Parts: sequence; structure tokens; C-alpha cells
Amino acid sequence: MKLDVSDALAHPGQEYPFSGLQAIADQEIGGDTVRLDDCFVEGGFLSDEDGNISVKGKLRTVAHAPCANCLEDARAEVENEFDEVFRRNGDPEDDEIFSYEGREVFLDKLVMSYAVMALPIRFLCREDCPGFEYRDPDAVPSEPGIRFPFAGLRQLLDHNKEV
Ligand SMILES: [Zn+2]
Repeated sequence: MKLDVSDALAHPGQEYPFSGLQAIADQEIGGDTVRLDDCFVEGGFLSDEDGNISVKGKLRTVAHAPCANCLEDARAEVENEFDEVFRRNGDPEDDEIFSYEGREVFLDKLVMSYAVMALPIRFLCREDCPGFEYRDPDAVPSEPGIRFPFAGLRQLLDHNKEV
């Protein structure tokens, strides 16, 4: 998503509200693919006398990744707040700063960074996920809904144990 900052540049110090949805690409983290739903972003922005744009707000989305214990689908609510300055005509190659040119501020990189920053270290399908302790068919739990789609992986794990 992008902000049209024409009015803000014409009226430094005046804050303008914004909100919208930002798509975020899949992230490869620790060997897992983390998929993020479109991120809801809202906040406000204003320009200083030099045309640098302060953007302040919060984001909210849901992230999906395999459960750290059992590899079933797991999800996590993701929320974060941000307060950053986009420097007018700053170096777009500089990863340490946000920058923009012209009259449009693109929020893609900011939203992605702050969403990834707020991801949980471990995804769990539920708080008390039993993990692989139930992968032995003799130890099928009484609860319905727990499946064993990883027979191949189980063989691999058992095999590695013997090595
Ligand atoms: Zn699990």
C-alpha cells in the first residue's frame, strides 16, 4: 500500500489518518515457510519542514506455519506498532532507513519488517500440543482429530535414531 503525501507536504505538521491492507510475501524462517494473511494497517502520517514523512500506526494479521511439535497447521495472531520516518530522497539502497521520492510513500517494506518482527519464535497448533509422542500408532490418543500424515517422516526420524 502507498500513501499520497501531497497534502502532508503542503501542510507540514498536520497529521493525516490512513488505513488499508498490505499483502506480505511468504517468509522462509528457520526452514519453515510462514504465510501471512493480508495485513490490516492503520495510523497517521505527517511531514516535517524538510519533507520527511513520519508514519505512526499499528498492524494486525494472522500468520500460518507448521506446528513446532507435530507439523500440523498452526496459526498465530500478529500485532505490532511502528513509528518511522521516511526520508525524502533518501538512498533507497540503504537498509538502515526508510525513504521515498516524489509524493508517494510505499509501506510494503515497513509493514513486512514489523510483521516479521512480531512473529512468534515457535508456532504451536494448540498450547498443549502433544507433539510426536503420539506418533506411535499403539499410542493413539483418545481425542479425535489427531491424524498421522507423516508416516514417511516418522520412518526417517526412527531411522536417524538408529544411526
Ligand atoms: Zn501441534
